[in-house]
Amino acid sequence: MTSPRDTRLADASQVQLRPEILATPPYRQGKPAAADSFKLSSNENPFEPLPGVLDAVATRTDINRYPDAAATALRERLAQLNRVDPAELHIGAGSVALLAQFIQAAAGPGDEVLYSWRSFEAYPGLVTVAGATSVAVPNTEGGSHDLDAMAAAITERTRVVIVCTPNNPTGTTVSAEDFDRFMERVPSSMLVLLDEAYAEFVRDASAVNGLDVIRRYPNLVVLRTFSKAYGLAGLRVGWALGSERLVDAARASAIPLSVTGMAETAALASLDRQEELLERVDAIVERRDRVIAGLREQGWRVPDSQANFVWLETGVETAAAAQTLLDHGIVSRPFIGDGIRVSIGEEESVAKLLRATEVIVNNLPHAHHGRALG
Ligand SMILES: *Cc1c(COP(=O)(O)O)cnc(C)c1O
Repeated sequence: MTSPRDTRLADASQVQLRPEILATPPYRQGKPAAADSFKLSSNENPFEPLPGVLDAVATRTDINRYPDAAATALRERLAQLNRVDPAELHIGAGSVALLAQFIQAAAGPGDEVLYSWRSFEAYPGLVTVAGATSVAVPNTEGGSHDLDAMAAAITERTRVVIVCTPNNPTGTTVSAEDFDRFMERVPSSMLVLLDEAYAEFVRDASAVNGLDVIRRYPNLVVLRTFSKAYGLAGLRVGWALGSERLVDAARASAIPLSVTGMAETAALASLDRQEELLERVDAIVERRDRVIAGLREQGWRVPDSQANFVWLETGVETAAAAQTLLDHGIVSRPFIGDGIRVSIGEEESVAKLLRATEVIVNNLPHAHHGRALG
């Protein structure tokens, strides 16, 4: 047997690569959860796929053929459900692919892409790959977008603004009122991407809903996904709604044929079972609210998450706190120096999680940011 080291390919350090790409760490997935622990690190849906959805996927035996590049059937269904024209819808292999397409369609070298930070960890890399420059505006104290500061950060070089609501990883939403006020300050020449990956988990009636405001703003594109509420993360399917000229630009920037026939069929089968799936979302929302109440009772200061995860502001204690979670069987997503995002998972994970967070909060220094004062 040869060891992996003996089989390594020749050294490629002579090959010239873009410096900004070399400076970007490649995506590394969180560790798989050990047998008796819960993987609460990727905001996945803890429920197994519905049998009918699996059955529908199994009917796609035509895998020797390329899929329908336009995902016509899914676009038509979504158009009908949302009372828009199918030409205004575009399907991607996950909404991350859609984000990449829209950023590349609108921004290149010398252009700026504006977003709140901390937010979705994919944004900085997607902007770098496009050759554009990130302008990251710090979140407010409470983890929300600072829309006034974002509006003030717009320059003549800004080409794209991303608004993430609920925000990953803090869970905060942008209110409809604040969104409208923000849009009044954004030039209509600038593309606004409303990333609503967690829209189905929102229960706050004052939060903006892209589908309610899409008709008001010609420069707005709404991004949705089947990965979270619909539980299809493994099949990669998301959708964008916007004016035909904008979604055509994303289509032109896409790698063709990335959305598989199985993914399209699974999305259609999920829409057929929407009611059943949204009952599961209700169960996750109920669990989330229970976790937040439990955390606050323990003394945590947590944002009012409207998504399927909670945010612990562990600051400099983040690495130690993530280890304590691991010791209690919880795999979380730590952002070192900042905080920890924990997904709402299986019912059995709730008690485990709250046992761990109680240990962590009791070990935080008294004046720590993650604690509620008083
Ligand atoms: C999970 C997530 C997405 C999209 O995920 P896909 O699986 O690519 O659809 C997009 N935006 C945010 C903020 C997310 O958290």
